[in-house]
Amino acid sequence: MEQASSGRGLVVAIDGPSGSGKSTVSRRVAAELGLAYLDTGAMYRAATWWCQHEGIELTDAARVAEAVRAMPLEMGTDPAAPRVVCAGVDITDAIRTSALSAVVSQVATNLEVRAELCRLQRAAIEAEATGAAGSRSGGRGIVAEGRDITTVVAPDADVRILLIADEEARLARRALELHGTADASTMAATRDEVVRRDADDSTVSTFMTAADGVTTVDTSGLTLEDSFRAVLGIVQGAGERR
Ligand code: C5P
Repeated sequence: MEQASSGRGLVVAIDGPSGSGKSTVSRRVAAELGLAYLDTGAMYRAATWWCQHEGIELTDAARVAEAVRAMPLEMGTDPAAPRVVCAGVDITDAIRTSALSAVVSQVATNLEVRAELCRLQRAAIEAEATGAAGSRSGGRGIVAEGRDITTVVAPDADVRILLIADEEARLARRALELHGTADASTMAATRDEVVRRDADDSTVSTFMTAADGVTTVDTSGLTLEDSFRAVLGIVQGAGERR
């Protein structure tokens, strides 16, 4: 995708609950259009990993916030392989464990942590929109995804999309991803990771209903391919109108 006449790259913000398909769809759209990709959820996961690595109690809000402000995080923005490195350790896989998913909301509901990560996320988005030195897209832009990206982090994004899906569909997708099959028992085992986590996260961010100017895409009955095509169409349409 070419830069707009404004000279700024395209900023696409996608949010939605667990299992809505936002990560996979965001990565594919970014790859298709030659844009950078930012997984803001991975940053909250990395913050959790870092606090645990430093031996900090996640309930100690002040120490957690202090640690996150000093976190030596390198966020990969390649949609084909978004690696996450912290203190020189590749933690891309370590931050996906169920044990970490079970506690990440404790860190993500810390408002000082949110302020710090929001600052880092805005800086990453700005670097891609302007083509700052070291940017991945050379100024073409970025797809950033995560629960408060359309409302708090990037409310001025060129394209803002909320991906939703009904609870059954979201549970089935996560069960398939984590256990390789989606039946009654694996879906029950996945409930904490989807339903409880979203309930906890909704105490600090809104990602179940679309804010003004945000386009909702319901992926319940869609395959991943269909979801990708639907979002790509919206993004390309917005890119052409700029
Ligand atoms: O999207 P993912 O499941 O990787 O997000 C992990 C956690 O990070 C969420 O459960 C939520 O607590 C937090 N998060 C957030 N705001 C974002 C992205 C993620 O609070 N923008």
